[in-house]
Amino acid sequence: DNGLDALVFDNVWSRFPEDFFTRVTPSVWAETRLLDLSPTAALRLGLDPEAIDRDRLTALMSGATMLPGMDPLAQKYTGHQFGTYNPALGDGRGLLLGEALTPQGPCDLHLKGAGQTPYSRFGDGRAVLRSSIREYLAGEAMAGLRIPTTLALAVAVNGEKVMRERVEPGATLLRVAESHVRFGHFEWLYQQKRSDDIEHLMHHVIERHRPQLATQPAPLEALYQDVVTRTAELIARWQAYGFVHAVMNTDNMSILGLTLDYGPYAFMDRFDPQLTPNHTDASGRYAFDQQPGVALWNLTVLAQCLTPLIDPERLREILDSYEPTLQAAYAILMRARLGLEVEREEDGALIDDWLEMLGRAQADFHRSFRALSESDVAGGLVLAEEIADPQLDAWLTRYRARLEHESRGETERLAAMRRVNPLYVLRTHLAQQVIEAAQAGDAEPLRTFRDLLASPFEARPGMAAWAEAPAASAPPVCLSC
Ligand code: AMP
Ligand code: MG
Ligand code: MG
Repeated sequence: DNGLDALVFDNVWSRFPEDFFTRVTPSVWAETRLLDLSPTAALRLGLDPEAIDRDRLTALMSGATMLPGMDPLAQKYTGHQFGTYNPALGDGRGLLLGEALTPQGPCDLHLKGAGQTPYSRFGDGRAVLRSSIREYLAGEAMAGLRIPTTLALAVAVNGEKVMRERVEPGATLLRVAESHVRFGHFEWLYQQKRSDDIEHLMHHVIERHRPQLATQPAPLEALYQDVVTRTAELIARWQAYGFVHAVMNTDNMSILGLTLDYGPYAFMDRFDPQLTPNHTDASGRYAFDQQPGVALWNLTVLAQCLTPLIDPERLREILDSYEPTLQAAYAILMRARLGLEVEREEDGALIDDWLEMLGRAQADFHRSFRALSESDVAGGLVLAEEIADPQLDAWLTRYRARLEHESRGETERLAAMRRVNPLYVLRTHLAQQVIEAAQAGDAEPLRTFRDLLASPFEARPGMAAWAEAPAASAPPVCLSC
């Protein structure tokens, strides 16, 4: 029986210095109903999704009962929000319930929407169904695309009415992540000039999550290098798959290079480098094409926090590896998306011109890549349906010439392209349909979409509607946190 009882907890955080956190009893939400359980997250925890007792999980998500070994607490951190330091942050509506040791390694269980904490500021400590479903699906979609991410074991609606721009149903999300350590945890300690605690936290991350770094000549430097490398690779994946996080504050940056804290994020539909789905981000600080630079800015903030322990010259050198790492990772991903195995000089220009063409033609980003994976060299017909651009033929001529340098056969190449170019994407309008159905009491579309997003490359019969772009007349994506 690999149900919830199989979870073994070792709560390191609750043994940290006491101002690292505050113990908080979760609020209890009446009428909690489980909407969906993620097999992806269950397997990550080493659990059998079928063996999980739904009633116990529901009780856990209502805040009414904890599992043996859990010790709920709110973590303290600070961070830069839209470039401004905010010392008053921390878990304001989520609680770390426990740190599990699983066959796949350590894993936090974090209940989002668990009620107020000392770090709630003016917030009500609650989560709404809309945002919880969006975060739930985001974890599935990112994992399906092999982009490092937090997951969620389950999403549950409850009987609370929560006031946002309008009244919405309350919900909870049981978030699963290898760790919730954020850049903001280090910013908080640095601000308080607590070098020993910074060192303590770094050693904790190494011991628990990066044990291979412990034997390096300079483990703390090696950890910073690891964060820089993984962040660069993460951003390369976001850029290659058209994902906009939209709230890249330093408190939302994971020390393990996971995508963390899904708010008004979006996967783009039409290719638009300036896409800013967050309606409060008027200046476009966190627009799609700003993400590589913002991550570098955030890594620089983290470097500053490590100056009491690491020579600033060394930090600067490590930081300098960010851009080439990102460029190299991005090139690998984009070459794979275009079906190019060999590495050639002209590939950069071919990729850039492809994207420029998509932008000019207002073509759908994902469908264009998928169409390219379904078009034989002689054809290009499928593509013409997606990309209305006078230069499509010229680009295809270059592409075909470039393919001459490949040794792989066409059938094999197209099959490989379909394994990296998704058919089912977490588009905002589809998420919205799923949310509206769930709000009306029907969670079936949520389960269907979750299932498709978990294996987004494989075409399934009868599911074409889930691969559609929004209508051309649809308004631009505009979301609130
Ligand atoms: P976020 O934009 O989700 O990264 O949140 C920024 C900060 O505000 C974090 O410290 C959150 O815990 C806190 N926060 C966000 N929403 C709420 C809420 N409804 N109640 C309490 N705190 C919140
Ligand atoms: Mg956050
Ligand atoms: Mg948050």
